[in-house]
Amino acid sequence: MLEEYKRKRDFGATPEPAGRPGETCGDRFVVQEHHASHLHWDFRLEMDGVLKSWAVPKGPPLEPGVKRLAVQVEDHPVEYIDFAGTIPADQYGGGTVEIWDAGRFTLEERREDRLSFELHGQKLVGSYALIRTGPGKNWLLMKRSPKKTARQE
Ligand code: MN
Repeated sequence: MLEEYKRKRDFGATPEPAGRPGETCGDRFVVQEHHASHLHWDFRLEMDGVLKSWAVPKGPPLEPGVKRLAVQVEDHPVEYIDFAGTIPADQYGGGTVEIWDAGRFTLEERREDRLSFELHGQKLVGSYALIRTGPGKNWLLMKRSPKKTARQE
């Protein structure tokens, strides 16, 4: 699943990881602030032995009711989860990458067109959903309202 990732990069020229064989998959997520030709935030979930990845031009929402475009991009190696640094300007994604948030997630629902999960990060905390908007790569990332708990009588 990393063919596209590897095809786009020259590992002799970029400090980004090529990925290690046999990496195991956990339940972590990361958001990397990427100052490339256009500033965006890369939202990545550890799934299926890779980091499923979306580029979010305006950044992940912190409040419920805000929907942010999230464009699915190529899977990244799990090793990318703590990558921060400078990608040379003439390389794919050239610019600086810093960790904006990181933590664990709990998957609640997974369908072809919808992912629901609880994020346990520093900035991103609570229930989130990624909803695919059509047959292309566009999804919406949104924070969901906290579940109302039944009040004790
Ligand atoms: Mn990026």
